[in-house]
Formats: sequence, C-alpha cells, structure tokens
Amino acid sequence: MNRKKIEDITSQILTEFNSNELPIPIKKIAERLGIKIHTYDLGDNISGVLVINQDQGFIGINPKEPSVRQRFTMAHELGHFLLHKNSSDSIFIDKEYKVLFRDQKSATGENKREQEANAFAASILMPRKLLIEQIQNHFLDLTDEVVVKQLAKMFDVSVIAMTIRISNLSLF
Ligand SMILES: [Zn+2]
Repeated sequence: MNRKKIEDITSQILTEFNSNELPIPIKKIAERLGIKIHTYDLGDNISGVLVINQDQGFIGINPKEPSVRQRFTMAHELGHFLLHKNSSDSIFIDKEYKVLFRDQKSATGENKREQEANAFAASILMPRKLLIEQIQNHFLDLTDEVVVKQLAKMFDVSVIAMTIRISNLSLF
C-alpha cells in the first residue's frame, strides 16, 4: 500500500470524525472505530500490542512510556487494525525499536507492515493539511529547532516524529 493511499485513509477518518482539533484525539478516534484500549504492563521494551479477535480490535499500551510515545503507539496499532486485519496474523506485538525506527532496507512482509503502520500513525497524528496550514499561516521557519519543538508540542508527538514527518512531506 503506498503512502498516498494511507494519507487518503487517514484524511477520510479525520473528515468523518470532524477532527480538526489539535492535538488529534487519537484515543477517542480509535474507540469510536470500535477498538478497545487498555494500558498493560507489557514489560520494558514492548510499546504496544494489537489483538484481533473476530474482527474486534484490542489495543494494549505500555503506560510506562512517555505520553507522546503512547499516542504514537496507539495510532500505529490502529494502523495495523485498519490496514492489516485481513492478514493471517491476529496478534501484533510492537517492541520499542519497531515503532518509528525501522530498517527501511528490509523488504520482508513484516517490515512492510511496520512501515505502513508507522506511515499511518504519522499521517493521522500529523495530518498533512493541518501541518501545512500551521506552517503557512504562521510563516514558520522549519530550520529553527525551536519551531519544530513547538509544532511537536502542538500535535502532541515527539520531536523526532515531527522531524521525520516534516522530512517525509518534503517541507524542509
Ligand atoms: Zn507494528
């Protein structure tokens, strides 16, 4: 699935839920899509899990991680649910390193799914339209680190997630 398609899916979800508020209420959105979200002590290096049981999605989030991380993981698992629920896997376990930081060179099916879930998470938490609007309306200088930090705060994502998103959208 290409990035354009993923961007289309997330923008459709946001339009349906009329979610133009910032930060994007990812938990509310996932719950309204019928997903149950709980926090679990998943161990130190597990960020989140998604369990699919008869089309029902259950997301477990590690509450020990910073809230920006929990939001990204929630969005990542929602991405797995919406994009991959018809694959043979019914359990997705996401270790810390798999979320956000991925080996782009690897082309295994699993890695492809991780990349797609990350692309989904980035695009729903930092919608292209809202991000560009902020940058243009306020004449933001993206070469200024402080500006990127402020954007990260506004969208409630990590600075690194925002930096990657801005770079992927070729906004620098
Ligand atoms: Zn994943």
